[in-house]
Amino acid sequence: MQNILKRYFGFDSFRPLQKEVIEKVLEGHDVVVLMPTGGGKSLCYQISALMKDGTAVVVSPLISLMKDQVEGLRANGVPAAALNSLNSEAENVMVRSSCLRGELKLLYISPERLVLEIPYLIRDMKISLFAVDEAHCISQWGHDFRPEYAQLGLLRQTFPEIPIVALTATADRLTREDIQTQLVLSDPVVFISSFDRPNLSLEVKRGFRKKEKDRAILDIINRYPNDCGIIYCLSKKTTESVADMLSVHGIVAVAYHAGLPAEEREKAQDDFIHDRVQVVCATVAFGMGIDKSNVRFVIHYNLPKSIEGFYQEIGRAGRDGLPSETVLFYSLADLVQLSKFAMESGQREINMEKLRRMQEYAESDVCRRRILLNYFGEYTDAHGAGCGNCDVCRNPPSCFDGTVLIQKALSAIVRADEQVSVRTVTDILRGNFSPEVTKGHYDTLKTFGVGRDVPSRDWQDYLMQMLQNGLFEIAYDEGNHLKLTDSGRKVLYKGARMELAVVRREEKTQRKERKLSRLKAVTPLFEKSEMTIGASAAGHKELFEALRALRKKLADAQGFPPYIVMSDKVLQNLCEVRPQTVEAFGLVSGIGDFKKEKYGNDFVEVIRRFS
Ligand code: ADP
Ligand code: MG
Repeated sequence: MQNILKRYFGFDSFRPLQKEVIEKVLEGHDVVVLMPTGGGKSLCYQISALMKDGTAVVVSPLISLMKDQVEGLRANGVPAAALNSLNSEAENVMVRSSCLRGELKLLYISPERLVLEIPYLIRDMKISLFAVDEAHCISQWGHDFRPEYAQLGLLRQTFPEIPIVALTATADRLTREDIQTQLVLSDPVVFISSFDRPNLSLEVKRGFRKKEKDRAILDIINRYPNDCGIIYCLSKKTTESVADMLSVHGIVAVAYHAGLPAEEREKAQDDFIHDRVQVVCATVAFGMGIDKSNVRFVIHYNLPKSIEGFYQEIGRAGRDGLPSETVLFYSLADLVQLSKFAMESGQREINMEKLRRMQEYAESDVCRRRILLNYFGEYTDAHGAGCGNCDVCRNPPSCFDGTVLIQKALSAIVRADEQVSVRTVTDILRGNFSPEVTKGHYDTLKTFGVGRDVPSRDWQDYLMQMLQNGLFEIAYDEGNHLKLTDSGRKVLYKGARMELAVVRREEKTQRKERKLSRLKAVTPLFEKSEMTIGASAAGHKELFEALRALRKKLADAQGFPPYIVMSDKVLQNLCEVRPQTVEAFGLVSGIGDFKKEKYGNDFVEVIRRFS
């Protein structure tokens, strides 16, 4: 097992549970594997396939995923192919005959095709195992439900002796049980790995106005001048406006959403995979078919609808295990809009509950990673140390006695007969003559202007905290008007005291720093930060860039995405080890025999130049 891991994939050790899964498959058990995105699920069935006689048949939901996997395997010298509608008839004939001759170790196939082929091709092949990747597609509870998957129960029926491996990153119990039932698995061994992705940093920026958001996003991207990232937006329109904004600033960015013609979507995805586009601004429609390992940042321009979706989306960063950054922008306006969607949806209770959990993450004043892991059923000691890689851990919030501020706000709400929205309350507190204020004659209230000393955006933040603490509710079905709760009345009338968290104005200090760096002028404006690959490759920066350029050249020559030739992680290993011979090159983690022979000379030549 260890030999095959090194020979084909170039890795020295297994990730958690990989070895255990392979052992069970080799013993002939059915297995269910739950691992987070980037956890290393593919190796579980790929190494099993390499260790057994015959061909492993892998059911995969998307052609782009099959293509990626097949290219990756072939790049490591593993005979693999895919049967799908993108192939020409001639290609498919060739693939079929190599299947029948037993030349392939892995065959990728769509569920529709598989079901058609069971009585023909599949019956005539020598099969080592079945793998069902992205197995949540089978479940009506999974978010990518595909009705065609429902017939996969045929596998167990037709091939009672052949082990089935089901793999997914969707960890909830309902989905898991549905997978087992639908596939008719016989007494499967279930492996659930930790869902923690410690290399992803977590950060929430709340209450940013559009301009501040744009500036913060540019700051993030400028810290990764040579690396790719994704920006998730709530609406199609926003994906386009954000992409336009980035283009204006000289960043190669595209929009991606379901409203674009298929060719345009494919091109965007392809350009991103091949490192021709730096940033994709997308709706949640983007990402399912993408295994790109060198995504360095994922930004949520708007609040997502649920933690499941959010976790899957940020999971697309840092699959190679290198430090990667995730940032969520959270505003009350998003929360109000999403609540409205949830209230109007078919599954009102469920969707509201999911949104509340997402809100809990965004508003947390304890370690954010703990909130995520708790959500997935991994309970950590609430008093234990935090993760150290989220904004709360790095910079714990400080509090002050907010009773008077709260009373001002609640009083404004009550005096306006609880007929006002967050925005109007802010206008009343600040003493702004907005149209709503004049229309409701709120400028005659005693509370008009009592909060002039607090900036609007801080009021937004305090109101958000009051909402979170249950002092008032938002009536989403009544023009988003604010309604006091019993707890709110206690603070307003009964003198209950309450703390508020200090609002952070980090972008102020950032602006100062930026000015400073501009004044210095000798240093380039946008240096890589300590958190990026540049850091661990510190001192190797030039070599890293030279290797990256070589990788791109080799990839383009073969029509591969660069990460198929080598991941960022492997480039970094090369920078650290600096092998001077092809033999030494082959020993570096991530280089298997095939890549050693194929690329050894080229890489060693560049590395020698730097030594
Ligand atoms: P998943 O399907 O679970 O999302 P993948 O199978 O695509 O994850 O693996 C994610 C990344 O982890 C890939 O770049 C893969 O090469 C790498 N990887 C997997 N197993 C190992 C290992 N044992 N050692 C080092 N890297 C690994
Ligand atoms: Mg996968």
